[in-house]
Formats: sequence, C-alpha cells, structure tokens
Amino acid sequence: MGQTGVKRKAMQVAIADLAKEFGLVPGQVGGVLLDFGIESDGVGFDADDDVLELVREGLQGLKGSKVVSLLPNRTPRDIAAALGVPQPDIQKTLMLKMKVMATLTTTLKPEVAEQLVEQLGYQLQWAEPSAPKPEPSKTQKPKKVVGAQPRPPVVTILGHVDHGKTSLLDYIRKANVAAKEHGGITQHIGAYQVQLPEGVITFLDTPGHAAFTAMRARGAQVTDIAILVVAADDGIMPQTIEAINHVKNADVPMIVAVNKIDKADANPDKVLSQLTEHEVVPEAYGGQTIVCPVSAITGEGVPHLLEMILLQAEIMQLTADPKGEVDGVVIEAKLDKGRGPVATILVEEGTLKIGDAVVVGACSGKIKAMMNYLGESMREAGPSTPVEILGLGDVPLAGDRVEVEKDERAAREIAEERAEKARLAVIAGTSAKKIVSLSELKKQLEEGETKDLNLIVRADVQGSVEAVRGMIEKIENEEVTVKVISTGVGSITEGDILLASAASAICIGFNVKPEPGAKREAERAKVEIRTYNIIYELIEDIEAAVKGMLAPKFEEVYTGTVEIRKVFDLSRQGKVAGSHVTDGKITRNSNVRIRRGQEVVWTGKVGSLKNVKQDAREMIAGQDCGLQFDGWEAFEEGDAVEAFDIVQVN
Ligand code: GDP
Repeated sequence: MGQTGVKRKAMQVAIADLAKEFGLVPGQVGGVLLDFGIESDGVGFDADDDVLELVREGLQGLKGSKVVSLLPNRTPRDIAAALGVPQPDIQKTLMLKMKVMATLTTTLKPEVAEQLVEQLGYQLQWAEPSAPKPEPSKTQKPKKVVGAQPRPPVVTILGHVDHGKTSLLDYIRKANVAAKEHGGITQHIGAYQVQLPEGVITFLDTPGHAAFTAMRARGAQVTDIAILVVAADDGIMPQTIEAINHVKNADVPMIVAVNKIDKADANPDKVLSQLTEHEVVPEAYGGQTIVCPVSAITGEGVPHLLEMILLQAEIMQLTADPKGEVDGVVIEAKLDKGRGPVATILVEEGTLKIGDAVVVGACSGKIKAMMNYLGESMREAGPSTPVEILGLGDVPLAGDRVEVEKDERAAREIAEERAEKARLAVIAGTSAKKIVSLSELKKQLEEGETKDLNLIVRADVQGSVEAVRGMIEKIENEEVTVKVISTGVGSITEGDILLASAASAICIGFNVKPEPGAKREAERAKVEIRTYNIIYELIEDIEAAVKGMLAPKFEEVYTGTVEIRKVFDLSRQGKVAGSHVTDGKITRNSNVRIRRGQEVVWTGKVGSLKNVKQDAREMIAGQDCGLQFDGWEAFEEGDAVEAFDIVQVN
C-alpha cells in the first residue's frame, strides 16, 4: 500500500503557545481561527503546515492590536479564557466595577460582555457564528467540538399571591411524562425537570420573587427565564408589579402566563393592557413579551407555555460545558434527622459525580449519594440538572456556590478558611457582604466604583409614590445617576430589602414604615432604610447625598505674591530665598508657582517660611521673609512667587 507523494501531516497546535508567541491573548488567536473557519476546543486545534502558515500570517497582522473577536452569547468564564485573565479577576470586575451579578456561566448580554472586555483593556468585536470559510477550510477535516453544549433553561415562576404559581408548577410537574412513569411520585427537592420531545426545562420549585432575589442577593443568578403568573380574574396586583421590577432588575427575559382563563370572570385582555402600563409590552401590542393564556387547573395553554419557554431558551442559546470545571449553586439546604445535611444543587457547568470532594460555601464534604427530583439515585449530574446531595459536613446556605476540589482535605481547608474569614468579618463588625448605605455608596464613588444611586420607593398611596418618584427623577447630576428601581404602595417589605441588597439600593419610605421582617433583614443585609413624612426633607436628603457623592472638585485660590530679592546659600540648610511679600499673603502651607518673566519654572509647595530666623506661619504684604521650597532650589533673584491654596468647591 505504497503512498505516493509526501502528505503533510495535520498536527495539534496549542492556542496558548501561539498566543504567547505573538504577544496576543487566546481570544485573539481564536478570532483568527474563526476567520479561517477552523474549529477549536478553546485549547488547541488541528492544522497542517499550510493552514498553520496562514494562521500565523493572520496573527502577525494582529500583533499589537487590542481587538478580540468572540462568538455571541459569551459567559464570564469564556471571556476569562479568551483574555487569559484569571476567573476571579473577571468576577471582581463584573461585580465591583460594573455592578453586574453574574456567575461564571451566565450568558452575558452583548453590551455587558463588551463593557467587561473593555474594562480589561481590550475591544470586543463580535464574530459571526457561521463565518464564511475561505480556502484553508478545504484542508480541514470535520472535528468534534468539545466545550460548550446546549443546556436546558432554568425557569422561575413569579407573581402575586393566589394567582396560581404553585398550581401551575404542580400541573406541569404532574403532566410531566417521567413523573407519570414513576406513579406521579416526585420528591420536593426545590427544583424539577420536565422532559418534552423538544427539550428539557428545569423549574425552580420555590415560586415568588423573594426566593428569586434572595439568591441574587447572594450573587447567584440561576434563573434564565422568569414566568410571571397573572390571574386573569384579578389582573395586575402589587406583588405582580414587584415581581416585574425584580425581573427587570435582574435582566432576565420574562414570559407572562395569564392564568385562570377557565374562570367565568377571566379577562385576559385587561391583563394585557395593564401589562403595558408597567412597560411590559405583549407581542399582541407590538412589544417583545410573550404572553400565554393558561389554566393551571384544566391545563389549557400549558403545553404552549412550555413550547414558548423552549423557544425563548433557543433564542438565548444557553450553553454549558459538561466536561468543564464544576460550578453549581445551592437551591435549598436543610438538616435531615436521618440523613444529615442535605442540599439541592443546581449544576451550572461541568458534571458533578458521586465521590467528588466538594466545597459548598463554607462547608465541605464528599458526595456520598445523589438523587434527582424523582428520588432516583444518580451517579452524575450535568449542566442545569438539579440534584439532592448527601455527604456535606454542614448545612450550606441557598445561593452558596459549589466547587469540586482534588480531595476531601483540600476541600476542607478551603471551607475552613472561608468559615474563618466569615467569622473574622463578623467580629470586625463588617459583614463580608456589600454594605448598602449612602455613606458606603459615597465611598464607592470616591473609589470610582459606582455612579448609580439605586432607590426603592414605598409610600402610603399611589399618588405619593408617583410624586416622590417624579421629584427624585428630576434630581440630575452629571456624575451620578439616580434610579428608582422599584416602587410600591404600603410598608417596606422583606422583598424590597432583598432587591435592595441585590441591586445595591437604598429603601425610601414615605409615610410608611418597614415591616418587622424587613427591618430584621435590613439589619442583617446592611441595607439602609430611610423613612420620611415630609417630601421636601426626602428630596433634600437625596440631593445632598448625590452632591456628597460627587467626586470632590478642587480649585486654586490665589492668596498673594512674593518677590525673591536675594539668594542665600547656607551650606547646612541649603539655599534660602530672601523675599518680600508684595501682595496678599503666603503661608507655611501655601502652594506656589514660581515665575521667571513669563515662564513658570516650578510649581510645588513651600518647604519652610521664616521671619528672620523664626519659623512663621504666615507673612503678609510688606513683610520680608526667608523661603525654601519643597524639593527645589533652582530659584534666582527676581523670580516671582505666586502663592495659592487648593480648596474643595463642592
Ligand atoms: P400561589 O399563591 O400563586 O401559589 O397560588 P396557588 O397555586 O396556591 O393558587 C391559589 C388558588 O387559585 C387555589 O385555590 C387554586 O386552586 C386556584 N387556581 C390556581 N390556578 C387556577 C386556574 O387556572 N383556574 C382556577 N379556576 N383556579 C386556579
């Protein structure tokens, strides 16, 4: 089987090596590969010499450039890999600088991704998912794409009490084929999955925005799609509005389920028009929001709702890497008398396996058993799968992150370190959590970290809410944006505090007080609540806060002029300028600008000011003095010293 001619062999090329060679980041190499239609697994790719040469040419042309090409729908983890930046740095930039709550596996909105990349010193250019393939692709063989795979969407149901959230979740669960096969016996583990011919959906089983936002407040945004349930016989109610605010704030796509359409007094059309009043514009009204009429009792419309969820998920192109590093989040956890600590984990990335040594928040352990929502034991769980795990040493908190370590000991060490840190933080009186108060915001602003003042406004009647909101929104300032992120009638609730904590907001009450639960939660989460009975006091306070939050501005104020008449060279003390104050005054702390004719030869501070041989605090017009400058001696006879103070003007 003789082979004629020398065929060049394809070889595996490491992206990191190429990036290093050309002084680029991995994402830039990836961009060139995309241009050539070359598939890679993010680590390496196969190429023969011809292709590699072309790639090298492309990279050569990119040298020194800060442009990174990425495919759409990137996660923070993808961006970390593309820029060759450690994942914690990416998370810090997102959370601290950009105030974006996202896990490593959250698909970022395009503008957020762009801003993130920019923060890290690069410019993002979106690549076409199906880039045209120029000639080199002819030499390419089809390759298995490792890495991101489509994953089921994670859905949360929100809405006003009694509008049918639980009924809808129950109906969907019961109608679910897998559950039927098991005699309809499902375990409550905080989440379940629905298997449909078109795909799988993961539902979080704790309805309501309190749970939704509690997770967010802890930095865990697991929901991909929110379902807002509105009863067709009742219409939009206060908690519906709260839920809308929470979902909008979390930037999660929303599908509206208009429920109870089986009822005689159902009026779905009224719900549609009410939605528009709250800036949720249904598709029927020319907007973007999908609205599905359903009945959680008869099941009418539910299959359509599920279809729409899958459609929305498809648009979002949700992906995760089952082979990647495990990243998950605790949905709920409890201490079970017989089984010990039990936690429901939603795996977001990677695959969690029995026997894995895990760190969960400040707890650790080895996974002894895993069960799905049907109570079936599982050996492994991939992305978007909720599983109950046994084997932790302690009960973690909802929202805690799950990571896999190399062994139990490593996991324990990390957990202990975290527990110790948390303990020290409590002792020091500073919770590890972000403090949400005016003074903290001021500090953050001074550090250049935030330019938004988020407010949640509650008042006794709708009229007051509108009045307060209207006045607050008029408070304008170049440097600080004042945003009312949620409003409501009635006492400040625990939900408000959770939202405040998640969105770094302050709760404002006008003629209302916080509920006891809200007060407790605010103390715990260090959220500031400010209550007022006089609207002008409220506005004045916010105005003052906004002013206080301005980065301080400084201005020079001229104080006087001094003429240097003679230069004395005192060998031990150095040179001294024998001077005369011709105008105003000069002080020991003055800033000075030295002019020689028209030219400014030096700017700095006074080093010493003497009246004959005595230190002087201040010398005024008509007096003679001895002057030295801070770190400068090149003054000459005839130089004019202009003294000024720097004062803060706001
Ligand atoms: P939640 O507080 O939002 O979880 O509401 P529930 O699911 O507990 O429902 C409140 C009440 O409304 C219960 O009595 C349900 O039986 C009833 N309900 C829920 N959905 C429907 C529906 O589609 N049609 C009718 N007729 N009643 C419903």
